[in-house]
Amino acid sequence: MEISSEHRIFLKKAEKIAFDKEHRAKIKFNIGRYDVAVKKGKTIFRNLDDARNRAGYVKYKAVNELEKYLIQFETNFVNNGGKIIWAKTEAEAIKEIQKLLKERKVKSVVKSKSMITEELELNRALEKKKIEVTETDLGEFIVQQAGQKPYHIVTPAMHLSKEDIAELYHKKFDTPESLNPTELTNYTRELLREKFVSADVGISGVNFLIADMGAIAVTENEGNGLMSMSFPKLHIAIAGIEKILPRLEDLDLFWPLLSTHGTGQQLTAYKSIISGPRKAGEIDGPEEMVLILLDNSRTNLLSKERQRQALSCIKCGACLNVCPVYKNIGGHTYNTTYSGPIGAVITPHLKDFATYKHLSFASSLCGACTEVCPVGIPLHELLLFNRKEAIDKGYYTYFEKKTNDISTFALSSRKRLDMTGGGLKNFALKLMVKKAWGPRRELPVMAPKSFAQMWKEMSEEDK
Ligand code: SF4
Repeated sequence: MEISSEHRIFLKKAEKIAFDKEHRAKIKFNIGRYDVAVKKGKTIFRNLDDARNRAGYVKYKAVNELEKYLIQFETNFVNNGGKIIWAKTEAEAIKEIQKLLKERKVKSVVKSKSMITEELELNRALEKKKIEVTETDLGEFIVQQAGQKPYHIVTPAMHLSKEDIAELYHKKFDTPESLNPTELTNYTRELLREKFVSADVGISGVNFLIADMGAIAVTENEGNGLMSMSFPKLHIAIAGIEKILPRLEDLDLFWPLLSTHGTGQQLTAYKSIISGPRKAGEIDGPEEMVLILLDNSRTNLLSKERQRQALSCIKCGACLNVCPVYKNIGGHTYNTTYSGPIGAVITPHLKDFATYKHLSFASSLCGACTEVCPVGIPLHELLLFNRKEAIDKGYYTYFEKKTNDISTFALSSRKRLDMTGGGLKNFALKLMVKKAWGPRRELPVMAPKSFAQMWKEMSEEDK
C-alpha cells in the first residue's frame, strides 16, 4: 500500500522542525525546567515504585472492569442530581452539546483546559453555530489567540517563549510589546473575569470519574476550572469512559502521581470533586450538570488484548517530556490530539489505523517513556504491538516488503551470509536503509570485514 497523506505530512514537518534551532532551544528550556521540578516533586513519595505499581494495578483493573464501574458511577451520579449522556462517537457528542446549548439559547461558553474537547474539535463546532467560546486556562487561551492547537497535553503553549507571547498579545490586544509574564497573566485575568461572569455555560474536562461517589475530579492550577464549573448556570463536563477510578480514596494516590509527573508539583493548587449540580441550601454551583461520557473508539482500543493497557493513561504528559522523538519534532508535527509516545500508541486505534499507524514507527524504542510512566504502561512494547498489527494487516509499502524479503532470505542462512565479503554487505545495507537514514547523515561503515573473516583472524592470532 501507499503511505498515507498524514504520514507524508508527518515526515515533511518532522524533517523541517528537527533542524529548527530556535524551536529546539525553547523546548529544551521548558523541558529543562520541568525536569528540575519533577525531581524535587517526586521526593514526596517514600517509595515511588510501590506507588506506581499500586496505581498501575488499580487503574488497569478498572479498565478491565469498565462496565461494572461505569454503571456504578452512572447510578451514583444520577442520584446526586446529575444527568448523563452516553456518546458513542465524536459526532454524537457534538450533536448533544449543540442541542443542550440551543435549547437554552446560549451565546457564550467558558471552557477550562480539556484534551477531550480538542479531540472533538468542539470550539470549531460551536463557533460554527455562532457561539463564542473562551478558553480560560492561560496556556489554552494563548494557543487559542494564536489560532493553534495545544502543543502538549499538559502545557499547551510549551513551544512559545515569553517574548512570543508578548508579541502575540501586542498584535491581538494592542498591549505594549514589552509586557513581562506577570503583566501578561494579569492582563489575561482581567479579560477573563468578565467572560466568567457573563457566560451562559461552563464546559470542562474530567481527570477522574469516581465510581463509588458518582463524582468527577478535576485538578488544575489557576482556579479557572473551578470558576468555569461553578459560575454559569449549566456545567457540561466531558469525559472519556476510561477515566474511571473505583473509589474516592484512590485520589490519595492518583492526585500526587498526576501532579508530580505532570508539572513537578507535589499537588496542584486546586483540586475539585463535583458530585452534581447545586443542592438546596448550597450557595454556589451550577443549576444543572450534564456529563457526556464519550467512547469515540475507546472500546476499539479496549478490544485489543495488549494495547488496551494504554487506557490506564492518566494524561500526565511525562512520556512526552522524556521522548527523544517528541523533543526533536515537537507536538504539532503529530497533527493529532494526543502526541508523543502515548499518542503514538492510542491514535491509530482511536482514529483510522491505516492512516495513523506510522506514528508507532516514529520511535527509537529506547523505553524512556515506559520508565517514567506513573501507571506503568509499557509504552515501547505497545508500540511494537502496533507495528506488528500494521504488518499483519498488510500496511506496508512495496519497497518495505522487498527489503524485508531480501533481508530474510540473506539472514536466514549462514552459508548465504558468508558468500559475500564485508564491502558488499555494507554496500547492500547502505542501499536498503539510505532513504530512512536521511540525506544529512553518512551511514557509518558497519564492519570492514565479514564476521567469519574477523573470527578466523582472531583465532589465528590466539594460536
Ligand atoms: S502514558 Fe503514562 S507517562 Fe504518558 S501521559 Fe499517560 S500516564 Fe503519563
